Amino acid sequence: MYDIIVLGAGPAGLTAALYAARAKLSTLVITGQMVGGQIAFTYQVDNYPGFPEGITGPELADKFKAHAERFGSEFLDGEATGVDLSTTPYKVLINGKALEAKSVILATGMTHKKLGVLGEDRLMGRGVFVCATCDAVLYEDRKAIVVGGGDSAIQEAIDLARFASEVTIVVRRGETRACKCLMDKAEKESKIKILYNTEVTEIMGDKRVKQVTLRDLKTGESSQIDTDGVLLAIGWNPNTGIFKGQLEMDSDGYLKTEGVKTSKPGVFVAGDLMDRLYRQVATSCGNGCAAALEAIYWVEAKAGE
Ligand code: NAP
Repeated sequence: MYDIIVLGAGPAGLTAALYAARAKLSTLVITGQMVGGQIAFTYQVDNYPGFPEGITGPELADKFKAHAERFGSEFLDGEATGVDLSTTPYKVLINGKALEAKSVILATGMTHKKLGVLGEDRLMGRGVFVCATCDAVLYEDRKAIVVGGGDSAIQEAIDLARFASEVTIVVRRGETRACKCLMDKAEKESKIKILYNTEVTEIMGDKRVKQVTLRDLKTGESSQIDTDGVLLAIGWNPNTGIFKGQLEMDSDGYLKTEGVKTSKPGVFVAGDLMDRLYRQVATSCGNGCAAALEAIYWVEAKAGE
């Protein structure tokens, strides 16, 4: 039995593991799809303190992991398929085994939302994509559109424009919700054009994306434009499916929390799962630290009983 099992190895999970292991508690991190979480897909992180020149997302993820390992955190690659939080010790199911822990920290992050339009699923991975850092190089001298009007859409468009010949951002409202710093960067990039009040209604192509149908939301007129790729950056859904029925959550699947505490004692939450607002590496590290401190108090209090 572990003292603490951390689900997820993004900045929140890795910070929680570092604190838990440094407190000399046996700590296992179940990594999920990728060590680093979203930063593993981030080209350059310029706003994490301590790296004045910036650092690539994968490098930062490696440093976070090495730091947690330095104090003895163990890592298990893969995704948990279920949890049993009905009684302590809590159980986490993975690879057909049930691993036990006195406390669990949930840092499973988010998954990209989809548009739900014709062609999207069929052409996923064949021109429809969700990560500029991973796929931008495939768009060298090609055209791409980015759907969305948040920080992610604008950041991804900037990353794509390093390679693509033309990037069109399709925004459904008359304005974006992205920060001024990113908008200024995008507006300075001559390869980027923004279409406001517009939505994508269909993605077309036989073997790969060739065209999209756009609708002007003011006039209702539809038009088609040629493109080689469609990057979806329209937000996220929380990865809480395996906690359904075990922890209280709202209708969007977000856990009901009080700070880093969930509805079950000894089960804590960190990272994007608990943060609809800020979702920065620095804030995830902060609440990963808080979740670990709560878990440490919990395990020590239980030991004292
Ligand atoms: P977000 O802020 O939720 O923005 C989602 C965007 O997608 C919005 O513009 C939304 O439009 C649009 N959208 C949603 N559903 C749509 C649909 N069906 N069709 C068309 N458009 C749709 O998500 P995000 O950009 O991923 O950012 C999430 C959080 O991460 C934010 O807090 C952000 O600040 C942070 N973040 C920060 C950075 C950075 O600091 N560099 C980078 C990435 C993300 P509406 O505006 O009309 O709702």
